[in-house]
Amino acid sequence: TLDSTTSLRIAVQKSGRLTDKTLNLLEGIGLHFDDYKRSLLVKCLNFDVELLLIRDDDIPEYVEDGVCDLGFVGANTVAEDEADVTILRGLGYGVCRLAIAIPKNGSAQNVEDLDGKKIATSYPVLTRKFFEDKGLNVDIITLSGSVEIAPRLEIADGISDLVSTGGTLKANGLVEIEKIFDSETQLIQTNKPLSEGKQKMIRKILQRIEGHKKASQSRYIMMNAPEEAVPKIKQIIPSLKSPTVMPLADNGMVAIHTVVPLSTFWNVMENLKEAGATGIVMLPIESMIA
Ligand code: ATP
Ligand code: MG
Repeated sequence: TLDSTTSLRIAVQKSGRLTDKTLNLLEGIGLHFDDYKRSLLVKCLNFDVELLLIRDDDIPEYVEDGVCDLGFVGANTVAEDEADVTILRGLGYGVCRLAIAIPKNGSAQNVEDLDGKKIATSYPVLTRKFFEDKGLNVDIITLSGSVEIAPRLEIADGISDLVSTGGTLKANGLVEIEKIFDSETQLIQTNKPLSEGKQKMIRKILQRIEGHKKASQSRYIMMNAPEEAVPKIKQIIPSLKSPTVMPLADNGMVAIHTVVPLSTFWNVMENLKEAGATGIVMLPIESMIA
């Protein structure tokens, strides 16, 4: 049964926007799973960990109750649930916002115009709080999906829904007028007491996620350069540590290896070329520990 195990149990969305990214992250930090599409509870092949695959709406509650020790779920879902859990960290994917949108050519222009009107949403808690804080009185219509068609069906005057690109709003003749809440996927932990073994595994997972994230934001670069260009090249590279400089068989030439943040990568490449570097190669990094 569900609660007779000692494995660290992690809740993951069964099938939806967060599923692949979360499973890729887990694989990326070295946790391997069998064929997760087939079953609700999936054993990790190389750690004492198992996944419970459920609807994302259920994740905060399962973690709050201690049925799962950890969960990967949108900040929007955690906030909507007002779940009593610990947020360990944001993960940088599943980025979206909860926002108010209204018909493009309707009578309302801003949120104040929605006073006394009907708002359709799948997020009644966050939405009600937003209007209450503004001192506006709205009638909240809770729908479980397809909220964006509510105005056309004349069920509501406006909506409060998750937006990432805005494409869905546009396709439905709606315009975003105000943001309620910024969201991304979060790793959450139960507040129920955990065994020493589980706590240790959680620390390991967090450390690996940190390394994975750092690695995904860095590139390993290699290049050749004339020896006399080395001082200039060292200035260009905003390296974490000093670069590795190795003599080449070719007289007066060296190979330089280093790690650079992805954000500076193109600038660095161009400046290196100008400084005399040749054969510049960049490689992705699997992970970075410490
Ligand atoms: P489930 O069947 O598990 O309940 P769902 O339909 O409620 O699935 P998805 O549409 O898969 O959920 O969205 C899951 C999460 O993805 C959202 O709660 C949110 O955190 C995030 N997300 C990111 N971008 C968007 C977006 N444009 N629209 C909706 N959700 C988004
Ligand atoms: Mg859901």
